[in-house]
Amino acid sequence: MTSLQECLINWYQENHRDFPWRQDHDPYHIWISEIMLQQTTTETVIPYYQNFIEHFPTVDDLAWASLEDVYKMWEGLGYYRRAKHLHESAKMIVDQYQGVFPCQYEDIIALKGVGEYTAGAILSIAYFKPYPAVDGNVLRIISRVYLIKENIVKKNTKKLIYDKVKGLLKGYDASSFNQALMDLGATICRPVHPRCSNCPIASFCKAREFHQQNVLPISIKKINHQEINYITGIITYQDQFLIIKNPPGLLENLYGFVQYEVESPYTFIERFKEEYGVELNIVSSIKRVKHVFTHRTWYMNVYHFVLNKPIEGLCTLEQLDLKPISTAHQKVLKAYRQSDAI
Ligand code: SF4
Repeated sequence: MTSLQECLINWYQENHRDFPWRQDHDPYHIWISEIMLQQTTTETVIPYYQNFIEHFPTVDDLAWASLEDVYKMWEGLGYYRRAKHLHESAKMIVDQYQGVFPCQYEDIIALKGVGEYTAGAILSIAYFKPYPAVDGNVLRIISRVYLIKENIVKKNTKKLIYDKVKGLLKGYDASSFNQALMDLGATICRPVHPRCSNCPIASFCKAREFHQQNVLPISIKKINHQEINYITGIITYQDQFLIIKNPPGLLENLYGFVQYEVESPYTFIERFKEEYGVELNIVSSIKRVKHVFTHRTWYMNVYHFVLNKPIEGLCTLEQLDLKPISTAHQKVLKAYRQSDAI
């Protein structure tokens, strides 16, 4: 049977995106492109990359240029600190490695502005070394393929995913594998509406098998104590919605959706079962909605769930519109209406 790695690499050979920095495996080229691609889209980067390489074709040219010249080439790309770091690092490479781009992890990660992802990208793409390059795309893909339901913002989850990729890389062409993940994340396994029917690794994907591709990854950012993260449920049964009257306290007498201060929609399902005694199935993630009160801010991570049987409190959309709903939850309802879930 063909492995996940083979499926992915074969797909990449035939479908990879054509970028100027993909014409060779020169570490200098990979480095410049990866730094430019931090916080910037590929379309924006292409002309800047071409100009930059034309003006500074080698590490030496960059090291000997004035910072002003480097900034000039960077003009309009933003986050100028990146240009400063490139310039300083080019000088380091000339001083410490006689202008030859280093090929060891410790030396590359020591360059200014290079983190674990960029070091992994350079080592794998330029030198074919088996280092993972885990960015948001890879966190998303691996979380889906292996049905990882933990929050990908957390360090432990990132480490788990890093180790998974490291294991996958063993014995395979790391350059093609990592770039295939980059392309898969950008074109197929997108944040919303992943194109599973066109996916080369669909047969390995647990999220697809269990219909969780529109739910994963769980990505809930940590916030300060005056801010609250909720999982907010648009809970439906056929064409009806579950709406509850708020308990005494904030927003008393108004109506809203069920929400719990929990970190995952799967924990929401458990809490809901404890409270209402019925099962929910998760359908999709809708949106993160923010609402600011005078003394606190709510971050409502809205998910669509379906009930497995009717319970008290269900009403149609028309009936819902007649109820006094809090402004925060009107925003939630609006997000739901604007989504594809309806
Ligand atoms: S099958 Fe769908 S969710 Fe799974 S990796 Fe492919 S595109 Fe992503």
